[in-house]
Amino acid sequence: MSDESLVARPMIERVEPPAARSYRHRECGALTKVGGDRFRELANPFCLMQSIDCKACQFTSIPLRLIEWADTGEDLASYRKRLRAAAPVGRRWFFFCLGPLVGALLGMLSTALISFLMFGRSNLLGPVLLGGFLWALLGGRMLTERLMRSVWGLDYRGER
Ligand SMILES: [Zn+2]
Repeated sequence: MSDESLVARPMIERVEPPAARSYRHRECGALTKVGGDRFRELANPFCLMQSIDCKACQFTSIPLRLIEWADTGEDLASYRKRLRAAAPVGRRWFFFCLGPLVGALLGMLSTALISFLMFGRSNLLGPVLLGGFLWALLGGRMLTERLMRSVWGLDYRGER
């Protein structure tokens, strides 16, 4: 057996994900280019996101089903649903709950500390529940993508 089979083995190509992508607001037809964190969040189907803005018509909360990727023409709601559906059920739920749960924990902890240390409250249940709820929403939006990327190295920007 020669070493040729080893040499001839195709190199695993590591393609860098694109830095930006354009989407089209179906109603007005205008394109908006998205990059940076916003692109990461939009491309990641587990990041809690319902709407986005259109630069041209100044609409700030357009539902994702009315927005399409400029290159594929797929609307963003379907794109995200498709990618979520492609993940195994366990992983889907894990990543879906990850951001909100971590957010809720941080929220409960911080509101408990603030209520107790700054306001001297002894009944912490109300503030803790409220803090947990608000931070769960925040976590779904702000933490999911960052955690998936930093802990698991997951980047959805290259998905089509
Ligand atoms: Zn528009």
